[in-house]
Amino acid sequence: MRYSLVWFKRDLRWEDHEPLVQAARLGPVRCIYVIEPELWLQPDAALQHFEFVRESLQDLDDHLRILGGCVEIHTGEVPEVLSKIWHEAPFTGLYAHEETGNAFTYARDLRVAAWCKTHHIPWHEFAQFGVVRGLKNRNVWQAAWEKHMALPVQHLVSLTFWKPPSVAPLAMAAPSHLQHNPRYRQRGGRTLALATLHSFLNARSMGYRGGISSPLSAPDACSRLSAYLAYGCISMREVVQRTRSHLESLPPQASRHRAGLSAFVSRLYWHCHFIQKLESEPAIEWRNMHPGYDGLREQDVDLAYLEALKEARTGWPMVDACVTMLRETGWLNFRMRAMLVSVAAYPLWLHWRPVGEWLATQFLDYEPGIHWSQLQMQSGTTGINTTRVYNPIKQAQDHDPHGVFVRRWLPYMRQVPDTWLFEPWLMPGHELSHAAASADMPQPLLDLATATRTAKQRLHERRQHTDVKAGKQAVVEKHASRKLIRKRPSSAMKQAEATPQLGFDF
Ligand SMILES: Cc1cc2nc3c(=O)[nH]c(=O)nc-3n(C[C@H](O)[C@H](O)[C@H](O)COP(=O)(O)OP(=O)(O)OC[C@H]3O[C@@H](n4cnc5c(N)ncnc54)[C@H](O)[C@@H]3O)c2cc1C
Repeated sequence: MRYSLVWFKRDLRWEDHEPLVQAARLGPVRCIYVIEPELWLQPDAALQHFEFVRESLQDLDDHLRILGGCVEIHTGEVPEVLSKIWHEAPFTGLYAHEETGNAFTYARDLRVAAWCKTHHIPWHEFAQFGVVRGLKNRNVWQAAWEKHMALPVQHLVSLTFWKPPSVAPLAMAAPSHLQHNPRYRQRGGRTLALATLHSFLNARSMGYRGGISSPLSAPDACSRLSAYLAYGCISMREVVQRTRSHLESLPPQASRHRAGLSAFVSRLYWHCHFIQKLESEPAIEWRNMHPGYDGLREQDVDLAYLEALKEARTGWPMVDACVTMLRETGWLNFRMRAMLVSVAAYPLWLHWRPVGEWLATQFLDYEPGIHWSQLQMQSGTTGINTTRVYNPIKQAQDHDPHGVFVRRWLPYMRQVPDTWLFEPWLMPGHELSHAAASADMPQPLLDLATATRTAKQRLHERRQHTDVKAGKQAVVEKHASRKLIRKRPSSAMKQAEATPQLGFDF
């Protein structure tokens, strides 16, 4: 029996899944997911990612079984798995989404393409997001994004499955070397993705404006869709379309709700904008986006600082509380992620690569294109962004003025009186001895103000180099966003542009 092979990767859904829909139009389909041992050995992989994939596949498999099919789980390197399947029962075409992943998946896709060529099997790949493969001109990118998002959401009309003689229930065991699976992380699957989107559109988005910066309000005010988008449990197109139609249905007086959803849509656009950078230049996973910054930090990485950061023992309560929350939940809001990288890159003067490897394992929503671009942007190595240095003491004063957040995640801070909340290391000895948990309280790794000033100076000096100035235009041409030109910007857009975090200087 002739059939098409649908290869699921980070697109673990049945709705708006173009490879599945297109393959189903031609006749029977066979669905596979491949556990690739090498992929899970990469330094950016964590147990939480594997478990989230497993949960998402379970949801997908449950749904496909209702339709008479299933997802088969295979283990091995993809070309080997394809060979095995093909020898058992040849397929007529391979169907999958394009992936903008890490260096491993990039090289693997080249091997899969070579395998298909050798075996005369057409490989049909479809865009997963508003990311353009082979983009020649950044100026046309936004129009391409809009076009992708406007296409109808694809539904499965009818489906015939090719199935092997016996199909076992879905089972997959995590490779034993994998670590880190936060207790309170989100669980995978399209069913939960839809519930999360529903609660956001109908209620939580009312708190989006003004609620996303503080780590206290952000867990509710933000959409929390990032992991579902990263693993494709829901398509970006479906999220954009549902949000836009929800916006249209709101009455004129729902201005707060409207502003929240408009700001959210611009984030969805940024999602693809950032992934496009890695798609257009895969090397930014490893190398500075602007080569003029090469050699700036590589030589003096102090591993003791990196270890202290990972262990939540920098001595700056806001930093240590964020690291602890991230460790326990797998999630942190944008501002606090940016603050962590800023502290690593400036006062601690750490190179973005080891910091990014560690954070990739901590973020459940790890998406290489966004992640590495943001790491470089917050570390000042893109050459096109304003230097943003987040002072953890000021962030605490602005976003946790009563210490609720730091006391939630750092038990020793519960003993510290309000007066010393932001700089507990300045507490006089007699008060410190009253704080029962003072022995647990780390001292700051260094003097924040002096170290930050030195770091800014070093970056600024580099920025003045002739070759650094000369190289900037090439980065702008390739990666910078083109500002939206609107005759009458909406008030939400004006507000968005006025908030530094939302600036469009990407
Ligand atoms: C150093 C650093 C690393 C990051 N790494 C990742 C990552 O690996 N994966 C990831 O999805 N996001 C990453 N972000 C962006 C952002 O912090 C998260 O997308 C956001 O916190 C996820 O929560 P949410 O879905 O509730 O966001 P919402 O605010 O509800 O946003 C909705 C969606 O828009 C996208 N988005 C939001 N903010 C950004 C942004 N600044 N840039 C690009 N896309 C954005 C995400 O897909 C997100 O799910 C990173 C940010 C920083 C500073």
